[in-house]
Amino acid sequence: MNLTTYDLVITGYSNKKRILKELNNKKEILNVKFMSLDELINSLSFSFDQKSIYHIIKKYNVKYDNALVYLNNIKYINDTIDNDKMTKLKEIKEEVKDELIYDNKFINYIRNKKIGIYGYNYINNYQKNILKNYSYEIIDNPKNNYEHKIYSFNKIDDEIVFVLSSIYKLIKDGIDINKIKLINISDDYLFRLKYISELFNIKINFKSNRSIYETIEFNNLLNEYINDKEIESSNKSILDSFIRIVNKFNFIEDKQDKIDMIINEAKNTLVESSIYDNAVEIISISELNDDEYGFYLGFTEELAYVKSRDDDFFSDKEKELLGLETSNEINKINKDNLINRIKSSKNLSLSYSLSSSFNIYYPSSIIDELNYEVIDNYKYNYECSKLFNILLFYKDIDKYVKYGDISDELITLNSNYEYEKEYDNSYTGIDSNKIINSLDKGLNLSYSSMNKFYECKFKYYLENILKIKEDEETNAIFIGNLFHDVLSKMSNKDFNFDKEYESYIKDIDLTNKDKFFVNKLKDELKFVIDTINKQYKYMSFDKSLEEEKVEVNLDRNIKITFKGFIDKALYNDNKEMIIIDYKTGDTKLDLGNCYYGLNLQLPVYLYLSDNLDSIKNVEVLGFYIQRILNSTITAKKDCKLDDIKSDNLKLQGYTISDMDKISTVDSSYTKSKIIASLGVKQDGDFYTASKVLSRDEMDNLKTLVKTKIDEMIDDILSSSFEINPKKIDGKDVSCTYCKYKDICYKKEKDYKYLDKKDYKEFLGDKNE
Ligand code: SF4
Repeated sequence: MNLTTYDLVITGYSNKKRILKELNNKKEILNVKFMSLDELINSLSFSFDQKSIYHIIKKYNVKYDNALVYLNNIKYINDTIDNDKMTKLKEIKEEVKDELIYDNKFINYIRNKKIGIYGYNYINNYQKNILKNYSYEIIDNPKNNYEHKIYSFNKIDDEIVFVLSSIYKLIKDGIDINKIKLINISDDYLFRLKYISELFNIKINFKSNRSIYETIEFNNLLNEYINDKEIESSNKSILDSFIRIVNKFNFIEDKQDKIDMIINEAKNTLVESSIYDNAVEIISISELNDDEYGFYLGFTEELAYVKSRDDDFFSDKEKELLGLETSNEINKINKDNLINRIKSSKNLSLSYSLSSSFNIYYPSSIIDELNYEVIDNYKYNYECSKLFNILLFYKDIDKYVKYGDISDELITLNSNYEYEKEYDNSYTGIDSNKIINSLDKGLNLSYSSMNKFYECKFKYYLENILKIKEDEETNAIFIGNLFHDVLSKMSNKDFNFDKEYESYIKDIDLTNKDKFFVNKLKDELKFVIDTINKQYKYMSFDKSLEEEKVEVNLDRNIKITFKGFIDKALYNDNKEMIIIDYKTGDTKLDLGNCYYGLNLQLPVYLYLSDNLDSIKNVEVLGFYIQRILNSTITAKKDCKLDDIKSDNLKLQGYTISDMDKISTVDSSYTKSKIIASLGVKQDGDFYTASKVLSRDEMDNLKTLVKTKIDEMIDDILSSSFEINPKKIDGKDVSCTYCKYKDICYKKEKDYKYLDKKDYKEFLGDKNE
């Protein structure tokens, strides 16, 4: 670009700075004058100052901003419109005509001079009209058709990280930071960009968006001024601005008027921002040169370019008559210019985000017209800022501690950052004698403590050895106990449902809300009992045990008891028995996890059946859970609600596969009416979904339970309480609902990765 042919170069601040720097580097002197386009147009027409603003405020009793609107529009006065608006403008111009500033000296100077206009998107009709009497040229970058990529992100922070990482890489590759430019930084981006760029240690010359009126220093100075005190401030920049503003209004005699004008002017004066010599600049796309690298952020429908609306002082219709561009025309010009600029920019990256903390955005419709590749899978590589990475890491740790979220990012950062080095969460062991001494009253084990132990030894340690669990008395527990209590009495000879139900709740303090639910649930329980009684008709058991407490003595050098309650055992004179556990919540039935000591609830009942006090040497033919409270009912086509509810009450569990025995459990076993999924195909085999076990498999299951209990006791007595949560086939089976996440500081390395097992593999059916 040869500027030596021009006497006056009209360009923006950033271009001017760059041109002067280049000349300085080349030790060249350019004999031209620089101005901005607004300065040029004002100098060639007229401008106004504070006197006119004050004049209009006083004359028409309008606010500062309204006075400015009038004064800014008097340049468009034209006889093509005859309406109140134009009449008012003419009146205002007449009022201030002696105060308007005409720069005749400049107009004479410029008359035969050559003007080059560089780096502006377009010259509007009003400007063209002023410039038509002068010799000017638009200096434009050559048109091109470069291809660029567009990067899409969900959040503004991710987009900013992408841009800063790309800048970091450019600088690392030896690109001068002064050749890197940010474009289209809206207020939505400003705060986060400032914050994250500091973490990346990338200097950016931000233009201030804060008025000096918003500073404490200015307000202190204003107070001193109002109270006629001596004005002083340690902030020289604000002090200078204050003095400059006050001096502008020396022509006003009334002090209050003067203060009002000072305040208005201060609201329109931005705080001077510190400018670094070597930094990334924020520019407009029209200022980007081929040897520079531009990052255009916020390429969304809302932010990509400023959209004009028909809400100016002059309406679109009036603008047409005045020969000015309408809002639609301006929007089209802006859009076309932007597309041209993008295509003609050699080194440009475009990006957008779909949301900020306050707004949702949509990708710019220009993207379709540009037809560039949109990349939405950019991954930050953590190479640019250790400080930022550590902050990310601690943010993710916080999410993990609060919500149990483990992001991929957390796993990557965890293997690199200080958290691990600063705090080693490993269980380092406890003298086993201390554990044994702490168990002076003996060690009580149960299915639930066992499940906890095999989910994670450390969880067991916290809850069962350190006993840090808080007692919970929730509604769910109360309802569960109520149901269990009434169900335990349903086989009594003179069982009276209403009497039992009322007698359980009569001494309990219930809120009105509780009473409402308890009344609703009464009908549900009645239905459960009726259904269970119907189920009994398919069974050949005439005796029952209810809420049977079973204790197994497993003493070592301390007293050890494995305890359990069997909700219901039905049996007959042949000592054939089934065991039923009533469930008000959800429970896993899959025997595959038993291999790892997990989900052993039903097998534990099988194990306990060998240790019943009231009846010895029983043969268990089945063990089940029965869901007595279903929070969700799934509608089925052509099914009545009661049928669906009865179906939900079917026994769920494992039945002996021995055909000679199975009819004792369920006379309808070929297409069971009482056991879920149980049935026999025409070829005599069970349905694939039927849960049946051979006698050997049941025996092996009992042995497995005993082995797991023994292993647990060994580990407890040797104080082996490592943090060892499990993932089975990648699914976390230990930590999801654990209350101790904020104590254990579990790390990914703590997980034991296990494969899902098929119970047939390890229970081994000799008959197969
Ligand atoms: S959160 Fe996981 S690792 Fe920590 S105690 Fe609970 S189960 Fe164990």
